[in-house]
Amino acid sequence: MKKFKCLHCGHVFEVESISPGLKCPKCLNRFVELVEGEPIKGKSWSSKSFSVPKIK
Ligand SMILES: [Zn+2]
Repeated sequence: MKKFKCLHCGHVFEVESISPGLKCPKCLNRFVELVEGEPIKGKSWSSKSFSVPKIK
């Protein structure tokens, strides 16, 4: 379980696993910040904030 905070509306929500289409359930913004939980392995997390790329 990982906890994210929406950078747009500040809504905090939890997800069981990170998916490519992860977004805020409230405002559907894709810019969310990881506030609790382990970072994704193999991915650079130099910044606290990150954006989830949209896969078409
Ligand atoms: Zn939001």
